[in-house]
Amino acid sequence: MPITPLSYHEVIEACDQPGCPICRIGTRAAERYLAGLIYDSVNDVPTRAGLRESLGFCHEHTWRTPEAGESAPLGIAFIYRDVVNTLNKRLKQVTFQPSGPAIWRQLKGSVGVEGKNASVAKLLEATAVCPACARRSEMEGLAITAVTDALAQNDPRLLEKLQQAGGLCLPHLRQALDKAPNQTAFDHLVNMTSARMEALIVELDEFIRKNDYRFQHEGFNEEADSWLRAIRLVAGNERP
Ligand SMILES: [Zn+2]
Ligand SMILES: [Zn+2]
Repeated sequence: MPITPLSYHEVIEACDQPGCPICRIGTRAAERYLAGLIYDSVNDVPTRAGLRESLGFCHEHTWRTPEAGESAPLGIAFIYRDVVNTLNKRLKQVTFQPSGPAIWRQLKGSVGVEGKNASVAKLLEATAVCPACARRSEMEGLAITAVTDALAQNDPRLLEKLQQAGGLCLPHLRQALDKAPNQTAFDHLVNMTSARMEALIVELDEFIRKNDYRFQHEGFNEEADSWLRAIRLVAGNERP
């Protein structure tokens, strides 16, 4: 499945809903990837080889696959027949490791000390990242470049749209600061986020105050979902 270049306009469009637009673009890219894979790439030889390495998908994306359309159960059956077969072959290679001395058993599980069966467990681990996660990271990277390039040129439309969406979440802010091509882009990112954090602190204080029984009669206003916006800001958008 070829990746189409991410345009500035997709970032602008992703700002139409509240929350980090980069998170939104990444989530959508992973969803499209899964739908495309289930729909027409299940029998693609390199794709299947990659899925044997990654042992299918990560937990999150595994449980998104049943939603990938009517043909999802059959597509999943093809993919996971391979994965289960791969795991079964590996399982037959594992051998019991006799326990070491008592001190070894006590240290097992401590920082830097692997259990006696660590090598066995490794044999059953994925050797590649989830391909849907990989696609998400790739598209998020392209979106961040589109954002930082536009901010570097003081793009007024993007500035306005980012303000409207609530800016970038912390994980994506860190990547954007790292990619900022000039001081202008860097300053926009810092100033915009700092202004939003200051406004959020005021709203969180108000939310906390109004939860006091003495002020409950006042009722909540726009600060009602400030707690939700705070966790979105720090952790990234919720994934549907
Ligand atoms: Zn984000
Ligand atoms: Zn994943």
